[in-house]
Amino acid sequence: MQAVSPYREAANIIIEEGGEPLNLCYQCGLCSATCPWNLVRSFPVHMMIHEAQLGLVDFESEEVWQCVACRACVQRCPRGVEIPDIMRALRRAIVSLGIAKVPDSLRITVKNVSSVGNPLGEAAEKRADWAKDMDVSTFIEGTELLYFACCIQAYDPMIQKVARATVNILKKAQVDFGILGAKQTCCGESVRKAGMESVFQSLAQNNISVFTEAGVKTILVTSPHCYHTFTQEYPKFGGNFEVIHFSQYLARLIKDGRLKFTKELNKKVTYHDSCCLGRYAGIYDEPRQILESIPGLELVEMRDNRENSLCCGGCAGRLWMETKKGERFSDIRIEQALETGANTLAVFCPYCMLNFEDSVLTTDKAGIIEVKDIAELVQEAI
Ligand code: SF4
Ligand code: SF4
Repeated sequence: MQAVSPYREAANIIIEEGGEPLNLCYQCGLCSATCPWNLVRSFPVHMMIHEAQLGLVDFESEEVWQCVACRACVQRCPRGVEIPDIMRALRRAIVSLGIAKVPDSLRITVKNVSSVGNPLGEAAEKRADWAKDMDVSTFIEGTELLYFACCIQAYDPMIQKVARATVNILKKAQVDFGILGAKQTCCGESVRKAGMESVFQSLAQNNISVFTEAGVKTILVTSPHCYHTFTQEYPKFGGNFEVIHFSQYLARLIKDGRLKFTKELNKKVTYHDSCCLGRYAGIYDEPRQILESIPGLELVEMRDNRENSLCCGGCAGRLWMETKKGERFSDIRIEQALETGANTLAVFCPYCMLNFEDSVLTTDKAGIIEVKDIAELVQEAI
């Protein structure tokens, strides 16, 4: 029997994954013109699509790992090509066929996720430590909401404050909620976009069976990445739950009068739309409604906002890959935030928060602008 070249097999994976839209591309080049990489270095997206159509991709190229899956290009594509799906297929071909090198930092992260269920490599049994002294109930059948804190909010000492603020707000509004702690694992969103399909599927199957066995009906998430995965990807694996992002839930609590503000926050705030909450889920209004309802707070918009928001650079596994100084989208976004005269950059996503906190420090902007999750701002005002 004639051996099939791995490159031919890779081309098949790409065509299978990219499907019909891959063939719809007529090389107009709008995707390349829209891609935020063009702010810092060249990234000829349309040429990669063309190479994928022909099965002639250079799998050794650094460009295969460059796309952050921000979807800015998809909005502009006149032929409906789901470009991030094609980029994901290229990575999946590399991972499943071993035809090129996976970047070291990404390999380590994925190893962590597969061995202990989180990208930080922390012990699974420590997953609920952030809530230790907060008297948070364990989810049992009949509890209204499961609160699912993402891995970063559960483990990163700098970001745990967001999960804690969320719990304080839920308690203040007397919401019936619980957590599952060590039983749950990473939702798998980034590992899937980075091409690690089998790791993603085992995470999804674990979480779906944990939620189902616990009798979960509704999941409250504070990460837009978990929101995307639970709403768009888990149903294909049998996981059908009602999923609410905290921006939606918080806006409703305020509107229904279940949460009252007692303090003024005299801050000039600009809000960053994360790709996963904005372009992926279409949630643009609720974060702004929440901010505008806080007494004393002035909301100002950045140049690139809502559908045109500039990605922080952290999606599709890029959070764990090295991005050279001078090429970080988050540095540019901090400059855009400063142009508005804001002293606070509000976010609703843990990846954005990590990237912006890092940019504030590395570009010497500490003391000039602070990065806050909207849950923290609400907590301050109630
Ligand atoms: S915008 Fe769409 S049709 Fe145009 S080159 Fe890019 S993928 Fe092809
Ligand atoms: S999804 Fe974003 S980073 Fe990826 S090619 Fe499209 S515009 Fe560029």
